[in-house]
Amino acid sequence: MVRDNEITCVRGVGEKTAVLFRKAGISTVDDLLHHYPRGYVSYPEVIPLGEAEEGDRVSVLLRIVTQTEVRKGRRYTITSLSASDGTASCRMVWFNAPYLRSKFRKGETYVFSGILRIKGNFRVMEMPEVFTHLQYQKKRETLQPIYSLTAGLTNHMVEKTVRQALSELGDYPESLPEDALRDYGFMPLAEAIRAVHTPKEKEELGRAMSRLAFDEFLQFLLDVRAAGAEAAGELNSHPVSKEALTRLTGFLAGQPFSLTEGQKRAVDDIAQDMASPHVMNRLIQGDVGSGKTMVAMAAVYLALSSGYQAAFMVPTEVLAEQHFREISEKLRPYKFETALLTGAVSAAEKRRIREGLSSGEIRLVIGTHALLEDPVQFQNLGLVITDEQHRFGVKQREKLSAKGAGIHTLLMSATPIPRTLAMILYADMHISEIRELPKGRKRIKNCVVDTSYRPTAWNFIRKEVMAGHQAYVICPMVEESDRVEGEDVISYADELSGTFGENIRVDFLHGRMKEEEKNRIMRSFAAREIDVLVSTTVIEVGINNPNATVMMIENAERFGLAQLHQLRGRVGRGDAQSYCIFISGKKSAANQERLKVLEESNDGFEIATKDLMLRGPGEFYGIRQSGELDFRIADIYSFEKELKLAQECMLKYGDRLVSKHEGKPVL
Ligand code: ADP
Ligand code: MG
Repeated sequence: MVRDNEITCVRGVGEKTAVLFRKAGISTVDDLLHHYPRGYVSYPEVIPLGEAEEGDRVSVLLRIVTQTEVRKGRRYTITSLSASDGTASCRMVWFNAPYLRSKFRKGETYVFSGILRIKGNFRVMEMPEVFTHLQYQKKRETLQPIYSLTAGLTNHMVEKTVRQALSELGDYPESLPEDALRDYGFMPLAEAIRAVHTPKEKEELGRAMSRLAFDEFLQFLLDVRAAGAEAAGELNSHPVSKEALTRLTGFLAGQPFSLTEGQKRAVDDIAQDMASPHVMNRLIQGDVGSGKTMVAMAAVYLALSSGYQAAFMVPTEVLAEQHFREISEKLRPYKFETALLTGAVSAAEKRRIREGLSSGEIRLVIGTHALLEDPVQFQNLGLVITDEQHRFGVKQREKLSAKGAGIHTLLMSATPIPRTLAMILYADMHISEIRELPKGRKRIKNCVVDTSYRPTAWNFIRKEVMAGHQAYVICPMVEESDRVEGEDVISYADELSGTFGENIRVDFLHGRMKEEEKNRIMRSFAAREIDVLVSTTVIEVGINNPNATVMMIENAERFGLAQLHQLRGRVGRGDAQSYCIFISGKKSAANQERLKVLEESNDGFEIATKDLMLRGPGEFYGIRQSGELDFRIADIYSFEKELKLAQECMLKYGDRLVSKHEGKPVL
């Protein structure tokens, strides 16, 4: 068997199973082996029995206080005994395991591990696993992989198939030159791939992840290099006119606010780039709410006033519509024709837009991936802007710039990355940072509370709405199943609406709704026809409604901190005091501490870093899951060192390494 084989080549995978794997994006053996676990579970620390709650999965160290009893039930033989640790006692029950009778003696101590059931004063564990104290210490070192799944695919199936593939495949070919491997002391690739799926202990997993993260960074840098090699030094065939530069001052003066220092600097950088002999390649980095859209608008104005067309690409349709509304409004006095192109527009409208773009009549198009479709041709495209750029791959971004020669590129990102790392990741880019938020913004007031606070929170929302403001309530998906996602939001909205009565208009939004429906809701929310919007995280990126002052997040413990920070960024976008209420279903100390970070900080980078420290290596990779840059393992916060090494390696061994996506294998 080889890596490129179809997954059906793995023993035990029939066509039916293969369909399930394909749905998860896995069609070859190689895909499977690179489907890394999204996290690991390990056996918990031993705790006093008295502290454990009903339904908890616990491990307890108990002394056996009764004889082992074996009795014949109707369907099973039942073996049971009682054990205690002084804080409480518990009945242990096993079915069809009479041989256990001779295993246990009164007075012996063991670690019992399983799910605790409590009824009144009576505690019971069914089918607990049993270890000696020493065995348990060892067991705690092992990690069980948890994979992200799609409907029909179980964790066990993935685990089993991966093990089978690993055993059939033999060694995975090494991707690094031998001297590089030696230089950096990395685990060989074959070993790393095995270890990430079947780690023996945490230390080994750490080394495997380090190696795989390094590879991902290296691959990314090679991709960028391959792409950048053409772009660098490309001549500027769309220079902005002197006139346009002069008129920009008037355009900016006509805005309802004056730019912050950071915005001014970014606009200056852009103006200089676009007037220079070389084409612009610039990244604007600024935390949520720092006003990046206005900066992009200045670039659009420059391009259009100089007689060129511009394209503005965003990751979601909802965001595309919002930008379209805002930007076409601002450009109205200048009579530039603008269009919105998403997957949701009708075929006739699409045709009209395509014609308009190729004739040059339409000057600005705002849209989603739909912009990348081949038939979209421009008459004279001079500027491409990508918002929330981390949602797009390097290849996708380029495809748009390839629709003409010498096109200026502007990327915008809210991903908090320190400058040194950004310079490595965006080696082909110049970077402008916007560090401050617009003047007059009040710091968002936060609180972390449990579910008993819900009625108070709802009351608070009612008051804010009565004062003319709006609110968001976020419900997480229970599972990665879309059906459930919609239901949660709908029933929550129903309940809320019942509580609030007719004077407060509640509506809902979730990922499964039709695009038109989503857009209609967002339009109504922006027009203040909806007071409270109950939503899943579809509103996470980019959404801007400065009149919204409350963000209430249910089950906040289920989100990564970086994601919570993004969600919180939806409020505090206007002058009014804003509030963020994190409702946490779980009281555990670790969880409280994690959420406290949000209470204490509004700085995206600080939050991301602390989140990782609190989770510790080998735990769920939270931040990466929230969609920051497109890596599987390599998040820049925990693998900063690997990123730096990848850059070093590329410089040192670069001529022997080739981007995979160029069709040639990496050495
Ligand atoms: P982000 O950087 O997250 O994309 P936006 O561009 O959506 O932020 O801007 C957030 C809000 O701040 C918008 O309502 C925008 O109109 C407003 N805004 C932008 N720049 C300024 C400024 N200089 N002064 C006041 N408000 C501003
Ligand atoms: Mg934005």
